[in-house]
Amino acid sequence: YTILALETSCDETAAAVVRGGREVIANIVASQMDMHSRYGGIVPEVASRQHILSLTPVVEAALAALPGGWSAVDAVAATHGPGLSGALLTGLNAAKALAWQRGLPFIGVNHLEAHIYASWLDPRSAPPTFPVIALVVSGGHTLLALLRDHGDYTILGQTRDDAVGEAFDKVARILGLGYPGGPAIQHAAEKAQAGGMVLPRAWLRESFDFSFSGLKTAVLHKVQEHQEREARLPAKPAGKHKGRTVPPATPPEPPKVAPAPLDPRWVAQVAYAFQESVVDVLSTKAVEAARQHGASAIILAGGVAANTRLRSELSRRAEVPIFVPPIALCTDNAAMVAAAAFYRFAAGMQSGWELDVTPNLRLGM
Ligand code: ATP
Ligand code: MG
Ligand code: FE
Repeated sequence: YTILALETSCDETAAAVVRGGREVIANIVASQMDMHSRYGGIVPEVASRQHILSLTPVVEAALAALPGGWSAVDAVAATHGPGLSGALLTGLNAAKALAWQRGLPFIGVNHLEAHIYASWLDPRSAPPTFPVIALVVSGGHTLLALLRDHGDYTILGQTRDDAVGEAFDKVARILGLGYPGGPAIQHAAEKAQAGGMVLPRAWLRESFDFSFSGLKTAVLHKVQEHQEREARLPAKPAGKHKGRTVPPATPPEPPKVAPAPLDPRWVAQVAYAFQESVVDVLSTKAVEAARQHGASAIILAGGVAANTRLRSELSRRAEVPIFVPPIALCTDNAAMVAAAAFYRFAAGMQSGWELDVTPNLRLGM
């Protein structure tokens, strides 16, 4: 089967065509990153409006890459949750309308399942075999799941507070590294020397749950301490006036409370320590889950799977093969939605026209 899929759960408007659940014919992503970075985060109303503008062009671009166009499409799929409700509505309704108009079956897809199925999108190598452990690390979710078969999920653990991607984004903001935080932290950390600072790890004993808000607070305290220390240092002499003394036009201002910008070398150390803490906890728990459940592989999924340090450390520690999609398939895209839809459709499943968005949809529902 050849599936046309749409993805609009967050700030990417995406359309893709995938054949046989594994062969990517087209994978078009219109990112709204630049628009949202002005606000330092995603503005839901702006996202929905932009999806409406971008949907037709991305669908047309995806179909243009498919020989035969619409006549070669067997089903239409779209993400129906989890995500921003207004954003989800645009893609879901567009997909339903396209399927209805062409008399094609329609398949609603769980965005988290789609992230996992990004690991099937490589027809040149063997796909993951069950049972398999999936570590899903994205902007809104962090979970460890056991997959016994297609569509058969057991959640082993999840975050009790912040998602990993969210922690990357918040810590980047604290460090003044901008948005999105994941790539910014990774690049800053690459400039740090190893072995400097160590930040805490929340192990939560034997549990497969995660917690990242304490780590975020630890970073905040480091920054506050650093700024207080800097403020206590004697001020450097102001710009020289070449012998002339310029009388101040206004009385000197009281010392500013606002701190000076952080030293980039120090920021690199904090970014490094933060990333090491996250990567250590994630890879330890994923490897342990695979061992306990006799998994034949570990799938790394979600936007944070783009992190090179996480990819290399998990590969180094794992006792079973690791599936990590190429970076373009880790972050939000519609090819992964088509892959997930394929395995549902191949098992005889499809969705009714009444399917609605579910902003807090969970895995295995
Ligand atoms: P969800 O999938 O939970 O609905 P989302 O779709 O917004 O959330 P994704 O697009 O899958 O999330 O991932 C985005 C997240 O990935 C952001 O938080 C971003 O900072 C993070 N991210 C992207 N690249 C990297 C990287 N190289 N290192 C760490 N984090 C990264
Ligand atoms: Mg995104
Ligand atoms: Fe996502």
